[in-house]
Amino acid sequence: MADVIPFKKHVKKPVDLTLCRNGHHKWKIVNSDPFAVHRGELISRYRCARCGKERSRAQ
Ligand SMILES: [Zn+2]
Repeated sequence: MADVIPFKKHVKKPVDLTLCRNGHHKWKIVNSDPFAVHRGELISRYRCARCGKERSRAQ
């Protein structure tokens, strides 16, 4: 057993956008606009972790 193939623990799965296509996005909060907080606007933006689509909280 000279050539031991390491067990692949972290196999990178291909991004499955099936849920996204069906409208089920994986929203994550994005805080890329600190000035919005400074103005007192608590705008939370969301970005889908899978397809990268963004939306605001208002939508
Ligand atoms: Zn998505």
